[in-house]
Amino acid sequence: HDEEAVAKAAAINADSGAPTIIDKIVSKEIPSTIVYEDDKVLAFKDINPQAPVHVLVIPKCRDGLTQLGKAEQRHGEILGQLLYAARMVAEKEGILDGFRVVINNGPSACQSVYHLHLHVLGGRQMKWPPG
Ligand code: C5P
Repeated sequence: HDEEAVAKAAAINADSGAPTIIDKIVSKEIPSTIVYEDDKVLAFKDINPQAPVHVLVIPKCRDGLTQLGKAEQRHGEILGQLLYAARMVAEKEGILDGFRVVINNGPSACQSVYHLHLHVLGGRQMKWPPG
């Protein structure tokens, strides 16, 4: 059963606080195609794109933000920087007229990497509701 398989796969990935693949992407130990970078934020192409444009926007320093649900008031500045970087990515990728920003939070939202990341998606007609 498809839905069950999806739920099981998602549940395997829980928020353990362990280092993630994103640490290695930030340190450039794992190469990525960078779309936008400043001192606090990195944006790179998703390895398994779900749209013609699919970019992940991450804080370089995780600082407890394994998922949006762990955000505290002190994270306000970086959260704003991430959203602004998403807009910069949309402009660079030529999709400012129509794009979607997604944050999957936790197993029931199919979060698989526990280092906060925004998905910037576009370049095709997006559907609503999302799956
Ligand atoms: O929101 P979620 O945690 O599921 O998103 C993780 C994203 O990280 C996926 O879209 C996956 O394709 C991407 N990824 C990647 N490079 C990796 C591992 C995962 O772009 N090496």
